[in-house]
Amino acid sequence: MSSTLDLLFLGSGNAFASGRYWSCFLLNGRFLFDASPIALPHLKQSGADLAELEAVFISHFHADHFLGLPFLLLEYSEQTDRSKPLTVIGPPSIEERLRTVTEATFPHLLQKERTYDLNFVEVSDCQEGDIGGLKWQARSVTHVDDFPCFGYRVEAAGRSVSYSGDSVMCEPLVELADGADVFVVECTCWEGPCGPHLGPDDLRELRRRLGPKPTFILTHLDGGQQDLGIENTLVAEDLARYRF
Ligand SMILES: [Zn+2]
Ligand SMILES: [Zn+2]
Repeated sequence: MSSTLDLLFLGSGNAFASGRYWSCFLLNGRFLFDASPIALPHLKQSGADLAELEAVFISHFHADHFLGLPFLLLEYSEQTDRSKPLTVIGPPSIEERLRTVTEATFPHLLQKERTYDLNFVEVSDCQEGDIGGLKWQARSVTHVDDFPCFGYRVEAAGRSVSYSGDSVMCEPLVELADGADVFVVECTCWEGPCGPHLGPDDLRELRRRLGPKPTFILTHLDGGQQDLGIENTLVAEDLARYRF
């Protein structure tokens, strides 16, 4: 267990958050989990080395998770030189959707010559892969009917992080997080029922079923939260770093 997990939260809020920016986090300086619209400015503010970013894992296409990508592509076209390939891992049709939204917002950007390879992996349930020494698995979770949503589990040097994406309580969530060191889990419904998301009662059930091991880091929040009294649980804050 000598290796360290380093999670930098660029944001911790949900789509409606007041007082928090839209949730996404950077793992070990090289792997971005969701690309919220504030990903780029907060990567810069935190001093992250943008040329080192190797992969972006996208859970689903809601704007608070996806619309940071065109800004990243613009950055790599205009400001930050990169030569390493960049891999975008996400739900089916991600390449087409990213091309469409980028063309609509930064026309011609994707036709410009690039100094790096831009690769896409369109995932299905239980798909596994390896990127830059990080083993990953995607799991289909239950969120909305409009498009699929995935959670991810990644492992490097024997340490593991699971990420819920946006989801209601479902079996794949339990399987994703079982035995992981850290579980980054959305808790949108802290104040009560709020749509296809998780709330405190779901987290209590997850803790009961998973046991004490995974450290929960709650994200996709709205404003400040009171203590839930769930053991081994942290509440993400914007631009905060957590090491394990
Ligand atoms: Zn969301
Ligand atoms: Zn969503």
